Amino acid sequence: MIKLNDSERIIALAGNPNVGKSTVFNYLTGMKQHTGNWAGKTVVNARGRYCFNNRDYILVDLPGTYSITAHSAEEEVARDFILNGGADATIVVCDATCLERNLNLVMQIMEITPNAIVCANLLDEAEKKSITIDIQALEKELGIPVVGTSARSGKGLTELMKRVEEVCAGTGARLTETAPLLNTSEIRWKNAERIASKVCIGCKTCSGCGKCGTSSVLNKRDRKLDKILTSRLTGIPIMLALLCIVFWITVTGAQYPSDLLFKVLFWVGDRLAALLHWFNVPEWFNELIIMGVYRVLAWVVAVMLPPMAIFFPLFTLLEDFGYLPRVAFNLDHHFKKAKACGKQALTMCMGFGCNAAGVTGCRIIDSPRERLIAIITNNFVICNGRFPTLIAIISMFFVGMAGGVFDTLLSALILTGVIILGVILTFLISRLLSETILKGEPSSFTLELPPYRTPQIGRVIVRSVFDRTLFVLGRAVAVAVPAGLVIWLLANIKAGDISLLNHCSSFIDPFARIFGLDGVILLAFILGFPANEIVFPIIIMSYMSAGSILEIESLTELRALLTNNGWTWVTAVSTMMFCLCHWPCSTACLTIKKETGGVKWVGVSMLVPTVTGLIICFIFTTAVRLSGLI
Ligand code: GDP
Repeated sequence: MIKLNDSERIIALAGNPNVGKSTVFNYLTGMKQHTGNWAGKTVVNARGRYCFNNRDYILVDLPGTYSITAHSAEEEVARDFILNGGADATIVVCDATCLERNLNLVMQIMEITPNAIVCANLLDEAEKKSITIDIQALEKELGIPVVGTSARSGKGLTELMKRVEEVCAGTGARLTETAPLLNTSEIRWKNAERIASKVCIGCKTCSGCGKCGTSSVLNKRDRKLDKILTSRLTGIPIMLALLCIVFWITVTGAQYPSDLLFKVLFWVGDRLAALLHWFNVPEWFNELIIMGVYRVLAWVVAVMLPPMAIFFPLFTLLEDFGYLPRVAFNLDHHFKKAKACGKQALTMCMGFGCNAAGVTGCRIIDSPRERLIAIITNNFVICNGRFPTLIAIISMFFVGMAGGVFDTLLSALILTGVIILGVILTFLISRLLSETILKGEPSSFTLELPPYRTPQIGRVIVRSVFDRTLFVLGRAVAVAVPAGLVIWLLANIKAGDISLLNHCSSFIDPFARIFGLDGVILLAFILGFPANEIVFPIIIMSYMSAGSILEIESLTELRALLTNNGWTWVTAVSTMMFCLCHWPCSTACLTIKKETGGVKWVGVSMLVPTVTGLIICFIFTTAVRLSGLI
């Protein structure tokens, strides 16, 4: 841990999963660590700083753990940091609505460090459940400082900083070796039960009934909801309906702002071109900047920004509500059949935004075998870079151009179908990997169903637009600029009468046609390796003789451009299938290397989806050809 100066203090933030650690962390540091209503979303130590009474503190948000006996990767990370990370104090965040099971961790941490502080969080939720925590009594029982907080609203956090300051001021000798836990787990649980029964007033799930630590944190309403959302009969249909609704709102809502952005950005481009002309900038340079770089950039922004700005907040609302673990619950049985881990569903949900995030999220899976399966198959989840391509193709080839409500509904249904295909492929490939190179049986795990929480709509919208949408867009833009430059050069540098781009695409054309694609499409996927967002702009630029994105006022014109270049509905389906199944982008590949520690698994992760995609495209095209449909 690097300190900038000796007066800085290092504070560890530990606690069970889903008790509000990241919320406390964000409030104190002003940072934007991902928060969400499910256990296991923090997989790395996040660090941030805050200043209190003119002293700097470095706060480290540890992964959530139920204990620090180092049975899993997260437990090891948390335990190592508390022991050897040089922490001056450790805040143990607890859920006030089910204190008893949280106290077990508190007592373990107290056994290995003298500088622990308890933050009894979620007091507002406890109050709603008519539970009162006697903070002073708890402090007396434990013999360490205890602060009651409602981190969402920031209540109690100044007091927390004050108590941290006091503990740090009296910092005692720190343990540097791995200290053994002093008590047996039985003694600890007994103690937790005894203390909880004294300090929790009105808790129907604590001690008195002895049910604490089980699913009894869920109240009646939660259980009723779960009966519907996780039932065998209705769970999966509701899940699919929700997915379809989210897509429908995304597709419908994105249409108008996308069109507007196109018009505005292209108009600005024209003015910029005129300005460069006025400055007597050489014509080739003007073309390169405007037709090459600017228009690719404009395309990426206009096509990606609106759907992301709608999809991310909707998805985050479901996450904040506590729905994601229910998705994992519903799919658990299928993952078991595929001999994989049910938590893979959660990593797939993370992959919806960006596959690199999904791959990092695979750390929540303990078994290395199952983690590898989840990493290799994460690419079957469509990331945001691929959504726009799919939406554009669906709108052009499978839905009438009228733009009515039913059109967008049909788009959403087809998109949901593509996602379902991705999920089915995930099951099949996971099973195949489990039977071949990653042989083994599924391990058991505990999936925690958190209580349903009312999402903070305002915060969700602001955070998902600023943290996720603009982050993904920024990455796309950073790739689009150099990509636009290279593609323009390839399209304009000629060997003989033909551009380099056309030479390359003609070379691979015969191979691509076996799979229902053409040379341009396959080349676009290859050149799109830096980021999937630029695949469609490359296709358009390649088809346009000038090698630039000309003003395409509507999807009808774009469709005409594609059909003039030989596209049929079969090309459209094949391109969609290949978009779903091909190698991961460069960022995802780098992340896979980092997570698996070798290029071997990067190779497997690239080969598996690509070969799957080629097989699907081949079977589909051959079947259509044989049936005489084309
Ligand atoms: P972590 O897994 O421990 O880091 O937990 P998070 O900080 O991600 O919080 C889990 C969920 O609890 C999120 O939906 C938060 O918005 C919510 N949450 C956190 N603190 C509070 C609080 O004090 N009151 C309420 N009502 N919700 C909270």
